[in-house]
Amino acid sequence: MTVRIPFDNSYATLPGVFYTRLDPTPVAQADMLAWNADLAAELGIEGSDPTVFAGTTVPDGAAPLAQLYAGHQFGNYNPQLGDGRAILLGEVIDRHGQRRDIQLKGSGPTPYSRMGDGRAWLGPVLREYVVSEAMHALGIPTTRALAAVATGEPVYREQGALPGAVLTRVASSHLRVGTFQIFAHRGEIDALRTLTDYAIARHHPEADGPMGLLKAVCAAQAELVSAWMSVGFIHGVMNTDNCTLSGETIDYGPCAFMDAYHEGRVFSSIDQMGRYAFGNQPRIAVWNMAQLATALIQLFDDKEQAVADATAIVHAMPGQLQAAWLRRFGAKIGLEGTTPGDQTLIEDLLALMQTDGADFTNTFAALHTDAARDQFTDRASFDTWARRWRARTPDTDLMQRSNPQIIPRNHRIEAMIEAAVAGDMAPFQRLMTALGTPYGVAPDFDDLRRPPSQSEIVPATFCGT
Ligand code: AMP
Ligand code: MG
Repeated sequence: MTVRIPFDNSYATLPGVFYTRLDPTPVAQADMLAWNADLAAELGIEGSDPTVFAGTTVPDGAAPLAQLYAGHQFGNYNPQLGDGRAILLGEVIDRHGQRRDIQLKGSGPTPYSRMGDGRAWLGPVLREYVVSEAMHALGIPTTRALAAVATGEPVYREQGALPGAVLTRVASSHLRVGTFQIFAHRGEIDALRTLTDYAIARHHPEADGPMGLLKAVCAAQAELVSAWMSVGFIHGVMNTDNCTLSGETIDYGPCAFMDAYHEGRVFSSIDQMGRYAFGNQPRIAVWNMAQLATALIQLFDDKEQAVADATAIVHAMPGQLQAAWLRRFGAKIGLEGTTPGDQTLIEDLLALMQTDGADFTNTFAALHTDAARDQFTDRASFDTWARRWRARTPDTDLMQRSNPQIIPRNHRIEAMIEAAVAGDMAPFQRLMTALGTPYGVAPDFDDLRRPPSQSEIVPATFCGT
């Protein structure tokens, strides 16, 4: 079996300070568990030999490397992270002319592995596969999943020995805020300048210098986080190393979609303080952009002016987030153009949902029908709200286009993983099919739309990935 990948590598031509050239580590027995044929076609990839996507065989034209980066984890600066269990095979120009990274995740140790084993187990690999592809189907910028391959090797985690797997991830790049932070903190200004020029050329060619780049990334992140909010997504680890320059969602660890709405909702078992709680995400996005700003300021001789410019850009971001939020939630309640009063209208609905523990997805999905009030126990309050809302003559089509009927619910993901560990990939296939058309899902998938029963609720997601 052969695989042809039309590589066109650029990161590997940058100076060596940015990465370590290194092949992935071969695995015992590569078995293809999931293959994204549509994405492969988009990338011009021919063949699906599992040994290539497990890291055992390095395909022709690849320039495998582990990328170096740092980052703030839960607010604390870690001076060196990097791809501890990932290898960038290289890049292709896809059929739309876009440059895309092809990366193996779980592909063995690298010089940046620290205490880790460089591996991933099947659960988080399939979780990222399902959730990232669901995100894409929802129309939200994200890395994609090309393949999931079993390695035939055990991986040891808190739970014990687990089946190992490798995910092939596709991204418009893996440049993170942390990629800039490491060179800024080390005072390696030439490297920082090279990286900045590279990021501008690759992602924001219209940007005028580092401040133009900052502005473009702030805009992309404001759109991204507002999009997450509109579907009840909680990323869970919004560290600066998990925050892309492209504005794509990356690093699906202990992420989750909310069932019952609560703005303080946290899933990640390691997020004890709720730093990355649902309602905090816009604030954290601004905080992350302030870290990017701090790094980029190092490029300027006139620091005072640079600080003033960067501050103005970062301070504009809450307004951008607010406008994007209002546009998206306005659409969710059927309002195309919003008036200042609509902000309160939306907030009042969310407050009712929070008090009642109403299901986020199903409440909005039902809003254009009479069934919406069934999501509430306090129907009188909902009816009062609905009278105010109907006076704004909401657009039913817009609501249907803006409210997904199905999201990857946590209890379904956990059940899918459990089945996959037992060798049954049918629940994975079924979830993937249902999540592929989130705005118009077939009636046979009604069970996947149901919120968890008391006993099905998954209270926390684990980082032991
Ligand atoms: P994450 O929280 O998954 O974004 O990862 C944070 C850092 O830990 C990154 O540098 C990862 O490459 C590294 N890392 C996570 N898991 C492992 C592992 N099993 N082996 C080596 N490095 C890891
Ligand atoms: Mg990460």
